[in-house]
Parts: sequence; structure tokens; C-alpha cells
Amino acid sequence: VKRSGSKPPWLRQKAPGGEEYTKLKEQLGGLKLATVCEEAQCPNIGECWSSSGNDGNDHVATATVMLMGDTCTRGCRFCAVDTSQTPPPLNENEVEDTAAAIAEWGVGYVVLTSVDRDDLPDGGSEHFAKTVRRIKELKPSMLVECLAPDFRGDMEAVANLAQSGLDVFAHNIETVSRLQRLVRDPRANYEQSMEVLAAAKAEGVYTKSSLMLGLGETTDEIKECMKDLRAVGVDILTLGQYLQPTPMHLNVREYLTPEAFDELRVYGEEVAGFRFVASGPLVRSSYKAGEFFIQNMIE
Ligand code: SF4
Ligand code: SF4
Repeated sequence: VKRSGSKPPWLRQKAPGGEEYTKLKEQLGGLKLATVCEEAQCPNIGECWSSSGNDGNDHVATATVMLMGDTCTRGCRFCAVDTSQTPPPLNENEVEDTAAAIAEWGVGYVVLTSVDRDDLPDGGSEHFAKTVRRIKELKPSMLVECLAPDFRGDMEAVANLAQSGLDVFAHNIETVSRLQRLVRDPRANYEQSMEVLAAAKAEGVYTKSSLMLGLGETTDEIKECMKDLRAVGVDILTLGQYLQPTPMHLNVREYLTPEAFDELRVYGEEVAGFRFVASGPLVRSSYKAGEFFIQNMIE
């Protein structure tokens, strides 16, 4: 896998546009639903909020919504979210309000994610699960992925969420084994995250994980991590370039070329055996998740 150390031209953001994107953005105005896509100014919004599929069946727009507030009890060195050991209590109206807005909106695949809430007895598992159940009641056709925390290794909390009726249980391993301590909050670790993914898989759902690249990992370490993820049954993998959110955060060690990402995708699908791998410099965990799900997971 070839890597590049210089400033990469391929990370330029594309201006969002297109008919479907414009329509979804207009609808959202009346719904009071905050999306991660907009708040994080995600470069993929034009692609996720539409579909590049040419036949009508592929049209599934994806959006990501954050639950349980904007303040995290952890502090990972790649993440710019605010941190506090005592974040505000959960907003109980959030389940109904979020589910109702999502059901009314024109997306077909929603990724529910959250900060880590180590202050809550179940880490927020039941709040997440209630939101999934309510979305499915209001709009059974909606595909729901939960990008979940590790719940501090509380496997009951993991199983509770995995049994909620979701379509995909995602939990990000973030980086290779050797770099866990450098990159993630010390309460997170490689083994615990693998156990979380195994526990979700034991409930019979599709599972998914994600790695940020460019933090100093080697190609062999990436392949080793893929093998470990497959060993706990992970179906879907995403690989993207780590970008430093502020100068206070971890430095980028290297920019992988688009070709390097493509080689890893081929390895992941053809050698490691994932159902599919989304891999590219701007790929994020939820990148075009709906479109990929429809194309690869529904038989
Ligand atoms: Fe939204 Fe995720 Fe797509 Fe970005 S990659 S636009 S956050 S769904
Ligand atoms: Fe950010 Fe998640 Fe780490 Fe919290 S646990 S600091 S939200 S990456």
C-alpha cells in the first residue's frame, strides 16, 4: 500500500447540491431535527443526502442524528466534542421528538449515534433502544443503524440495544491494537470493543465497525485488525482518513492516497471477507450507509 506524506489534493470538499439534497434540506427546516451531517459540516452531505444509484431501487438517502446531548463523559484525542463528568440529564422528550421528526423526513436510512454517557447506569442503552422502537412504530420501512458506545463493557446494555429492532449495530474500533492508548480515552480499549461487537453479533444482527487511518498504523496492523473484526463476525467495515479537528488534537501522521484506500477495500472484501468495505479519504462511518446497505445486505 503506497502512502503519501505531502498535502493531499483529494481531501478538498465538494459543494453539496442536487435535487434530492435540496429537497431534504428544505424539509428539515420545518422539523427541528439537528443532524451531525450539518453540524459537523460533513463533506459527504451532497452524496449521503441523495443517491448515486441509477435504478430507482438504490435511492436511499442517509443521515446521522446524535442522541443524549452534545457533552461526552470521555475525551478521546481525535475528537472535538465537549467533555464533562456531569453532563446535563437526558431529555426524555428526545425519544418522541427525534423519532417523529425522522419518520416524517425523506431519508430512508438513519444512523443514530451518541456521546458516551458513563454517568448513566445503562450508558443510555434504553434511551437509544426506545428511540429505535419508536421510529420503527412510526415508519416500519425506515432502516436504522445505531453507532453505539462500548457501554463500559456492560453486555446487557449491548444486548438490549441489539434487540431493539435496529438493522445494523455499529461500534467503532477506531484504530489498530497498538495505537488504542494513544488515540482513545483510557476507558476504551481494543478487547472491550471486540467483545461489544461479539455480543451484538450474538443477537443475530448485522454488525459494523470503522477505522481512522493516518495515525501511524502499518498496513500489516490494519490487516490484523480486519482479521480480528472478522473473527467476532463483523459484516461491514469503513476506512477513512483521520483529520485533526484542532491543533490541540492528535497530529495526522500521514495521508493515505485514494489508491491505498482502494487496495485496502479490495483486501477487506476479497481476503478478510467483509460483506462490504467502504474505504476512501473522506469516508466516515455513516458514509452512504443506506445505499451500501441496500446494494450489499438485502438479498
Ligand atoms: Fe451525514 Fe455521515 Fe454522510 Fe457525513 S458521512 S453526510 S455525517 S451520513
Ligand atoms: Fe468523542 Fe466518542 Fe470519544 Fe466521546 S467517546 S470523546 S464522543 S469519540
